[in-house]
Amino acid sequence: MPEKTKEFVSDLQYIKGVGPAKAGALAKLGIYKPLDLLYYFPRTYIDRNAVSSLKALAVKLRQEDIFNLKDLSQSFAFRNEITVVAQVVTKEEKHYGKNRSMLIISLSDSYGGIAKIIFWNFSEYYSKAYSIGDMVTISGKPELDRYGSVSFNHPEIEKFAPEDESLYREGKILPIYPMSQGLKTARWTMRQLREAIIRLLDSHLKDINETLPEVFRKKMNLITLRDAVQNLHFPPSAKAIDESKFRIKFEEIFFYELYLAVRQNGVKINEKSIAVSPKSPRARKLYESLPFKLTQDQIKVIREITDDTQSGKPMNRLLQGDVGSGKTIVAVLTMLTFIDNGFQVAFMAPTEILAEQHYKTMTGFFEGLDVNIVQLVGGQKKKFRNDVLEKISSGTANVIVGTHAMFEENIEYNKLGLIVIDEQHRFGVAQRAALKKRAEASFAERGISPHILVMSATPIPRTLSMTIYGDLDVSIIREMPKNRKPILTKVVFESQLQNTYDFIRKEINKGFQVYIVFPLVEISEKLELKAATEHFEFLKENVFQEFKCGLLHGQMFWYEKEDAMKAFLNKEYQILVATTVIEVGIDVPNATVMLINNAERFGLSTLHQLRGRVGRSGFQSYCFLATKDNYQFEFKRKDIPEEDRKTAIIRLKTMEETTDGFEISEVDLKLRGPGDVLGTRQSGLPAFKFLELISDGDIISTARKEAFAIIAEDPHLRKTENQLIRSNFLKQYQTGKNYFDIA
Ligand code: ADP
Ligand code: MG
Repeated sequence: MPEKTKEFVSDLQYIKGVGPAKAGALAKLGIYKPLDLLYYFPRTYIDRNAVSSLKALAVKLRQEDIFNLKDLSQSFAFRNEITVVAQVVTKEEKHYGKNRSMLIISLSDSYGGIAKIIFWNFSEYYSKAYSIGDMVTISGKPELDRYGSVSFNHPEIEKFAPEDESLYREGKILPIYPMSQGLKTARWTMRQLREAIIRLLDSHLKDINETLPEVFRKKMNLITLRDAVQNLHFPPSAKAIDESKFRIKFEEIFFYELYLAVRQNGVKINEKSIAVSPKSPRARKLYESLPFKLTQDQIKVIREITDDTQSGKPMNRLLQGDVGSGKTIVAVLTMLTFIDNGFQVAFMAPTEILAEQHYKTMTGFFEGLDVNIVQLVGGQKKKFRNDVLEKISSGTANVIVGTHAMFEENIEYNKLGLIVIDEQHRFGVAQRAALKKRAEASFAERGISPHILVMSATPIPRTLSMTIYGDLDVSIIREMPKNRKPILTKVVFESQLQNTYDFIRKEINKGFQVYIVFPLVEISEKLELKAATEHFEFLKENVFQEFKCGLLHGQMFWYEKEDAMKAFLNKEYQILVATTVIEVGIDVPNATVMLINNAERFGLSTLHQLRGRVGRSGFQSYCFLATKDNYQFEFKRKDIPEEDRKTAIIRLKTMEETTDGFEISEVDLKLRGPGDVLGTRQSGLPAFKFLELISDGDIISTARKEAFAIIAEDPHLRKTENQLIRSNFLKQYQTGKNYFDIA
């Protein structure tokens, strides 16, 4: 054992009943010191007033019809495990096969409900562990067996000690702590954990120091930290649990928001940028020639941007808007104001195809405006590239559109005043910083930061985005252009595909175009290619003989992809068979139908992005989500749980029910959690121990409002009443001298 661990372990091993082995198991969970254990809070509680009765549970399960998905997707009940308290009434061991046996334990609760627990493995062991008459708590996912009674499959079971039983009968709220395998192996029982914590509360609660001033606590209705910790372990009431959770979560997010506030304030104080006059003849000219009227949201966002860019402080703004909400034109109008002020502009896209498309779109917008636009992507011929680089460094190029190739060290920009980054989630913070550095080097004067506009088509709730993209201000386009009709979306089963094909034929005969998408699930690139090609051949030869079909997949060279896209755009193909390569940004307004095969395999955000490829004009568009009959998907791996089947159905149903990206991303966040959806690791967000980013939106906004108000009034936290906040803030966030002037 390493020296360090030994030393730490010793802190806890002398608590009565603990010892080195048990202390070691705690150390594996990062619990070394008394205060660490005091911050090891219960996973849940058994509150006699709140425990489900088995009868009520059975009724609920019967109602939870799998096809009643609207309800399911709202409650997400299947995700939550349920806790019940009951007594063992019978045990039955059944033998089957060769030396195999299972154990069925029947339980009954004090309301006369019954349930079964089935153990498929280790039946002998479990049979010894539980005796008739034992009172147990069961936490797990309940199911209905075929006789309509509640059953649990290998749930988590905790035997009540006689003392607990009496506590429970008295109506006390019992804490249930998370029991890792390590704790169990070290023979920790729930009861021992509780006892150790009771001892620690006696001896060490006083070591917890308050972090928030009393006046502030009173104003925010926050209980003391000590009360919160005490109550979380042994709550006198259900209300006390809520108050305590609120206190602990508030604390966690408040100091982080304070950090964001200090940092933003620091940028405003310390960083300098160019002040750009919004008066722009070019922007005016383009605006007046647009074939459509900007939406209110687009106008609002342009205002927010010009407020930033003329301030002399660098803009760091995130523009969120669903696919097709018209972010590009907002960026283009902004770019023109920079050009009229004599600055260069860089526009970075995540892929070459997208860069190419933006290049074209912009070339169209810039017609007659005397703007010089160049493209900078990988794989350009040396001579051509040198020419481009020369135009960039001399300042001849006003606009540079490109990919990752844009932040290479050897590129010299010339007064690069604005950086626009499309599809933020594909880039990390580091890449943004690299391009910013190039921009800073492009000014003769030192210490000038560029303005940065980041665009994202991942619509997420505002509180969440403000916290996740902590250093960015957020603008949102919610309103879609007026001429858009919501895309009609339908789940179709594979046996009905003929009807869908007929529908597609009709649409093509009206002059529209169609995407057919299928997932690639094979492991090797070779197999992927084979699957893509075979599917394409099949459709071409057996289904749509009368039409021209093109193929687009990830294994093609970028110029091949480009050719395929171009041909589709030029209507040389009526049908484009494609993989998710088309997910991002390609604009073919004449395409009005999308058929997505094996749609259950795609994540919600991918489905939404894919669907966004149609409905880009005033024509009615359609999206078909094809899947196995009656949702009988066969997932490749046998070990994929039933829950995944349900989440797949929820994804498809959600797509049918709404085209609103914000709603969709909320469901997605619930299904997958923010880490996966948003790539929070890239964003530099700390891992919160207690706060739930999604469900604690109210706490986040409250904490944010307070934190920003405090920093606005007392930017260096110098006031007497803020000293406690200041010292605790500095303990957690060593922000350094740049942002926070400690002196
Ligand atoms: P995204 O936000 O997904 O990047 P785009 O900027 O590509 O969306 O816009 C999608 C399409 O909508 C483009 O063809 C664009 O010219 C058009 N568009 C943008 N704003 C409006 C508007 N206010 N009214 C009608 N069409 C618009
Ligand atoms: Mg776009």
